[in-house]
Amino acid sequence: MSMIIDAHMHLGEDLIYNSNDDEERVLGYMKEFGIGGVILQPGLKVWDWHRSCERIRDFALANPGRGWGIVSYTPHCSDEEYMEHVTWAVRELGFVAIKLHPEAYCCAPNAPQAQKVYEAARKLGVPVMIHTGNGVASALPSLAIPAALEYPDVTFVLAHAGGGMFGSEALVAAQACPNIYLETSWCPVYVVRNFVEKLGSSRLMFGTDNPDNVGVELAKHRALHLSDEDLNQCLGDTARKVFSLKTAEQQ
Ligand SMILES: [Zn+2]
Repeated sequence: MSMIIDAHMHLGEDLIYNSNDDEERVLGYMKEFGIGGVILQPGLKVWDWHRSCERIRDFALANPGRGWGIVSYTPHCSDEEYMEHVTWAVRELGFVAIKLHPEAYCCAPNAPQAQKVYEAARKLGVPVMIHTGNGVASALPSLAIPAALEYPDVTFVLAHAGGGMFGSEALVAAQACPNIYLETSWCPVYVVRNFVEKLGSSRLMFGTDNPDNVGVELAKHRALHLSDEDLNQCLGDTARKVFSLKTAEQQ
């Protein structure tokens, strides 16, 4: 069994979604459910942006090979300001990807303001995770297709893979663009089965988004009775490859 990696979790306050999970809670669920590694994102709106990123860096340093960060910053700013912030997180803190949240930032993936996200990802050599699902129409999975086609050298991960209702659309987006991967938190189990059968487990990654959801997401994947190879890909190997993670078991 490969290390299980949760590709989508949050640490600290989020003033938009009113969540605030701390290190103890994250480490607690990792221990309870045998999660070997976790990729953490700060809240979409926070009081102290730099500190919220540093908190994730501190978690990663305290848990080597088991914790990583994804940076998110509003694209409603100058190209220079955006680049400065995400470059700091990737180069100085070692974050492994950039997040675009269409709902929280009111910025659809095909909006002109979103271009700076893809340019930054290309320059820094990291994937872009795009939230999909809640917050349509700007969070429709298909809106990532133009960017994925325009930036074939950038890897895209659709968080929540359409969030259930738009799972079929996320599948079409991934089928149309080989550089699109799907993170499956909140998707119904039959949608995940469809992804495995139509797209393949090498394009799918396990994520949870919320500590209360960890056991549910694990049970969902296990309920599908996938082959060991497919299960390993979904639960950790795809995320390890996409985000170029150096995991504790490899150190
Ligand atoms: Zn999230």
